[in-house]
Amino acid sequence: MAEAPTGIRAVRATGTFDVTWPDGHVAVYPFKYLRCECPCAACVNEFTGERILDPATVPEDVAPTAVEMSGNYAMKVMWSDGHYTGLYTWDRLYQLQQSPEVMSR
Ligand SMILES: [Zn+2]
Repeated sequence: MAEAPTGIRAVRATGTFDVTWPDGHVAVYPFKYLRCECPCAACVNEFTGERILDPATVPEDVAPTAVEMSGNYAMKVMWSDGHYTGLYTWDRLYQLQQSPEVMSR
C-alpha cells in the first residue's frame, strides 16, 4: 500500500496535479492524462481491465472542478466534463508514476 501523499495541488497554470509523496518526491500528473486514467466502471471494464473511455472524447483542456478526499486511501475528482465517479487511490497514483506522461521534480 502506498502511503498517503503529504500534498496534492491542482495547478491550473500548468494543467497538472502536483502530488508530493512522503519521501519528498513530487509527481506531476497532467489533468487530461489523469482524466483518461479514470478507473471507474464507466471508463474501464471491471472484469477485463479494458479501457472503455475513448480519450478523443475528453476535452484537451479538461480540469478538476473539485477534489475530495475519500477516507485516507484515495481522492475523488470532479472533472469539468461532468465526470465524477472516479476514485484515484494512492496505490494507483503511485503506480501511474511509471507512465512517461507523468513527470517528476
Ligand atoms: Zn470514470
